[in-house]
Formats: sequence, structure tokens, C-alpha cells
Amino acid sequence: KMPQLSRPDLLRDKMLINGVWRGAASSFEVTDPATTAVIGTVPDATRADTQEAIEVAKEAFKSFRHKTARERSDLLRKWASLLRDHSQDLGRIVSLENGKPFAEAHGEVLACAQNFEWFSESAPHYTGDTIASQNPNVRLHTIKQPVGVCGIITPWNFPASMIARKVGAALAAGCTTVIKPASETPYSALAMAYLAAEAGVPDGVINVVTTHSNTKDVGHELCTSPLVSKITFTGSTPIGKLLMNQAASTVKKVSFELGGNAPFIIFEDADIDKAVQGAMASKFRGSGQTCICANRFFVHEKVHDEFVTKFAAAISNLKPGHGLDEGTTQGPVINSKSMAKVTEHVKDALANGGKLVVGGEPLSELGPNFFAPTLITNGNQNMKVFKEETFGPLAVVAKFSSDAEVVEHANSVEVGLAGYFFTKDLVRANLVAEALEVGMIGINTGLITEVALPFGGIKESGFGREGSRYGLDDYTVIKTVATSLA
Ligand code: ADP
Repeated sequence: KMPQLSRPDLLRDKMLINGVWRGAASSFEVTDPATTAVIGTVPDATRADTQEAIEVAKEAFKSFRHKTARERSDLLRKWASLLRDHSQDLGRIVSLENGKPFAEAHGEVLACAQNFEWFSESAPHYTGDTIASQNPNVRLHTIKQPVGVCGIITPWNFPASMIARKVGAALAAGCTTVIKPASETPYSALAMAYLAAEAGVPDGVINVVTTHSNTKDVGHELCTSPLVSKITFTGSTPIGKLLMNQAASTVKKVSFELGGNAPFIIFEDADIDKAVQGAMASKFRGSGQTCICANRFFVHEKVHDEFVTKFAAAISNLKPGHGLDEGTTQGPVINSKSMAKVTEHVKDALANGGKLVVGGEPLSELGPNFFAPTLITNGNQNMKVFKEETFGPLAVVAKFSSDAEVVEHANSVEVGLAGYFFTKDLVRANLVAEALEVGMIGINTGLITEVALPFGGIKESGFGREGSRYGLDDYTVIKTVATSLA
């Protein structure tokens, strides 16, 4: 099911080091998750390839750091504009390798353009401080300088935008980069890097190493090389812990956006139709494979049955299918490992008293990685889904009766990325927003992401904030200058 691209050259099958598109000693296959058909092969970069990419990024940093903020801003704006020009093609590439419906994939590409525009605006406005000294003869000021070469490691669930939000900030700050995209989804990264060169980003500023068999070595090199000054990672909490450990060897600056397990709470005074809409958006976007997807539904006993009836109807209306087929609203999950996890969580929920309302089975007639969007009620804290992220199209609803009880349950996990709740009560809205142990909250909405919002988590969901006016902080270091006049 190869899409027709108006710019077929956007589908790159080589990696990018110092402006040169090249292969590696071996290569690996990338598959369409909907069919498992091979899309193509890309280089399987080794540690030595990664060292080379790091070295050229270090070399490029010497000059790129001295570009003016206005020059970097112009590059990002041009890049954004190329992304918009080619958003149809890029959307097809994202959809093909990730499986998400084209409309979602296209939206992701536009979000990348918005990221670059945002950081193109931020670059010239990002300044140091002048500070009053306690000593009348001393002047204090700070300079914000780019941290250096950034290692960027990203997941497959947003193959384009997870990279954009990191590389946009890095370039705005004056950093250079080595990107390691997920092996499931390298093509979006390569296409974006290709357009960066077209926008005039100098050679060596953005390098992309694709790898599959050597992931551990490539990751280790990025995390331990003394030439790399920062690691930014989005992915699972266990890999985040591993990389943090590795990065400690050279005390790198790190920012991590790790797993979530978002609570989605519906209080008795909520607008139920809005809550259903929010639940659909938050749970089923990307087939439940976004890190801010609702994973645990808590519904007040008074509105439980109404919510469940309406939620079940909305879920039944989803149209699973190939992401590039007209009318598809729900794609596959990424691979057999994901299928196994969803299947396990469904089985476990049913074994722990769950009641199946909709779905519950693989949709094998559509392909090996399709699982029916599923709703289970009678949720409780013994179920795996209430302890770990499912990362799939499974919604489990638990009943609750008091605010204190639901907040306690919502906070009972080690992670804290996003949380959602629906209420019309202003006092409750404030108190619950303050009490939930998460980095981001949606009140009466299931869709929170935009570039203006500081994106990131607390607890084992990581640290650092992407996008927003804080987004550049993670890519810069503050240098303090004290000048004596006496
Ligand atoms: P997921 O289970 O969603 O694939 P991961 O945390 O395993 O989440 O993957 C996120 C990113 O981290 C991907 O780019 C993946 O290739 C990369 N990755 C996985 N294992 C390692 C590792 N040991 N070192 C460096 N990067 C890794």
C-alpha cells in the first residue's frame, strides 16, 4: 500500500551525516504496521557511525553557535514553511510507517510546522538578565548559551512531532544535533531532515542515524560521548532510567518525557456529552498509543451508567482500518508486542471482575496488529491497567463516590504525566487540579497539546518542559558574568 507522493524523493532510504546521505554496513527493514508488508530498508548504523555523526555535529557547533538568533529564526521559519508545503506527502509517510489515520498524521505534520514557527519566534526573544548586585561597584549579567551537541532519541508514536519539538528548540538555541529515531519509524525523521537541508540548515547541524540491531550501542555512544552535552529522550520509563544512568558518566544535561498513566475523572456535575467527546479524543488518538492517553477512567456512581452507554456508542462508531484508507478513524497498534500487551490487559481486567461492554478481541480480518476498540466496566485497583500504561485501544471504567477517594486512586501510580477531569464546579476544579500528581491537566477537555503549553511530567514521567516559553531552557546554559568597576 505505498502512497503516491508528489515528491517521491522525500522517502529517503539513507541516513544523514554531515549533509551526506549514506548507508551503513548493513540495513534493516521497516514495515507497515497495518499489513506488516515491508516499506523499505534503511541503514543499521553502528557505534562507529554514531561517533562520526557526533564528531561532525561538534564541528558544526563551532560555527552554528555564532549564527545570530535572527538567522536561526529564519532557518526555522523556512523549514516550517517547507513542512506546510509538503504536509500531504509527509502526512502519508507518517501514516504509512506509524499506522495512524491520515488526518491524524497530517495534523502531526502541521504541529511540527507550528513548533518550528514557535521556536523561530522564541529565538530572537530569548535573553539573559541584568541583575542588581549587593555591591555598588559590581555589575551582574547573564548570557544564555547553547548547551552544545544534543543527542535526540525519539519514539514511534509521533514519528515527526517528537523530533520537531526537540530539534526546533535545539536549533533556536544554537545547538547541533544527532537524532536517533525509533527503528519502527525512521522515514518521517529522514524526510524532515531532508527538508531542513532544503531550508538552508548547514551540514552537520542535523544528523540522523537510523538503527535497529545496534540500538543499545548507538544509545550508549550518545549518552556517554564527552562530545555530547545533552540527551533529550521521549520513550518508556525503563529506557529513560537506563539512559539517565549512562548520561551520568559525563554529567550531561538531560530532559526526559517518559511513560504516563493518565487518570480521566468524571464528576457527578460534568457535562456527560462533553466528557464522552473528551474521552474519545484522549483515549483513542493514535489507537491509545500516546503518552498522554487516558489510561484509567473514574466515573462518579451517579453518572456512571449514562457515561458508559454514551461512551460505548461512540466507541462502536470508530472505523478501524488502514491509516491511508478513506474513512479510517482508528489504525492498528504498532507491532505484535503491543498487541500482546493489550490482549494481556484485557484478559487481566476480565479475570479481575471486569465486564466487557464493547470489543475485547483482535480484529484479525483487518491485519495482525488490529485490536478492537474496547470498553470494560467494573474497573478496580487490582487490574494491571490501573497500575501500568496499556498503550492501546482499551478503556476501563471504575466507579467512585467521593472526591478524596478518586484523587487518592488517581495518584496511586509512580508516573505523573497528564490527567483529565470533567466538572462545572469551580472550587472543585481548582482543588483537584492542585491535588493531582501530574505535569499537565485538562479540565473539561481531553485534548491539551499545543506548542504554547509547557509539555512534560513529574514523578517517573520525567522532567523538563517542551514547547512553551520554557522550551529553550533545556537547550541552553546560563553563564553568569560579574564585572567589578572598582
Ligand atoms: P517503546 O517501548 O515505546 O518502543 P522505548 O523506550 O523502548 O519505547 O523506545 C523509545 C526510543 O528509545 C526508541 O527510539 C528506541 O529505539 C530507543 N531505545 C530503546 N532501547 C534503547 C537503549 N537501550 N538505548 C538507547 N535507546 C533505546
